[in-house]
Amino acid sequence: MSDISRREFILRTGSALAVSAIGFPSIILPQSKEKLGVVLVGLGYYSTNLLAPGLQQTEHCELRGIVTGSPEKIPVWQEKYGIPDGNVYNYETMHEIANNDDIDIVYIVLPNNMHAEYSIIGANAGKHVWCEKPMAMDVAECQAMIDAANKNGVQLAIGYRMQHEPNTQTIIKYGAEETYGRVTAIRSGGGFRANHEPDNWRAVKKMGGGSLFDMGVYPINAARYSTGMEPVAVRAKQWSVREDIYSDCDEYTDFELEFPNGLIMEGKSSFGNGMNYLDVDCSDGWYRLRPFLSYNGVRGSTSDGTILSADPNHQQARQMDDDALAIKENRTPIAPGEEGMTDLRIVQAIMDSSRLDEQWMKL
Ligand code: NAD
Repeated sequence: MSDISRREFILRTGSALAVSAIGFPSIILPQSKEKLGVVLVGLGYYSTNLLAPGLQQTEHCELRGIVTGSPEKIPVWQEKYGIPDGNVYNYETMHEIANNDDIDIVYIVLPNNMHAEYSIIGANAGKHVWCEKPMAMDVAECQAMIDAANKNGVQLAIGYRMQHEPNTQTIIKYGAEETYGRVTAIRSGGGFRANHEPDNWRAVKKMGGGSLFDMGVYPINAARYSTGMEPVAVRAKQWSVREDIYSDCDEYTDFELEFPNGLIMEGKSSFGNGMNYLDVDCSDGWYRLRPFLSYNGVRGSTSDGTILSADPNHQQARQMDDDALAIKENRTPIAPGEEGMTDLRIVQAIMDSSRLDEQWMKL
């Protein structure tokens, strides 16, 4: 790079170039030194095992508070993560976060039927909101969350971690740039052999239970990010085999999404058997990610022998840093509320189609 173009680059990007120890120029982005403060709302499996550990590795945000309905968890979390008394809330006091300058972001990690209510409490407290997938129970709840974020001038991002994962980002680019030609078919499934207690929220319909809500949003979202298109119609079948556990919601869902160019995506979700694949066929080749939704080890291959090796970084840390940086730089996050709402529209149509004997439903 000549001196002039180097200066231009610095001026345009607002970045400074430094030369690393091995002699390659590296980019130092200007950034506020302050880490944003995150409060985790709901201290179940995902917060405990993935998000809190991830927040120990983030550069742009850190764990500063908790919201929990389980008093016995408070001393454990306070000791492990150095959380002061003033940053501990329960569901009744959560709105008081409005008065706490330590907290910039509320991250909703609750059963699916609680996402909308607590996201809106967070937004009304003037805090940015991150909310786990699936965004909410239906499109109306999603819209209310988006409205609350807009009214309060805060960001709303959905925890679609795959969109932050490097191999997933590579295949999104393949689709956008038609590296292997036009996408002609997609097959994707997410599932595991679950064994919930029948009263676990994941098996209770009114709490957002069922394999479609839990795992089906991954292949739905994958169909959309692999094509960059929105589906126009869907048909689906939902059923359960283990009626003793999943009498109230789907143990299995099979669905087809039709895209405007006639492309059909075949999707599956399951609480009955393990599946974890995203296969994309194109006019000049193919690529696949297997597994495509694991917390680590997302790997891929392509028809011309390219190997997409697993990224060693903490997936949730990457997601939260991306989303924190979007807040700091006042940019739209990678997966804003609208992204979650589009998937919920498809989820609802899948349920309607199954109820109506697998009729094609327009979207
Ligand atoms: P979990 O059941 O382990 O935890 C839920 C938490 O909510 C618990 O701490 C529980 O005490 C609390 N809670 C508060 N009120 C409750 C009520 N009325 N009934 C039941 N629990 C109540 O669930 P989880 O696996 O941590 O999932 C939480 C959310 O995170 C879900 O929306 C799920 O879809 C999402 N999640 C996302 C990923 C991902 O990879 N992005 C992975 C796991 C879970």
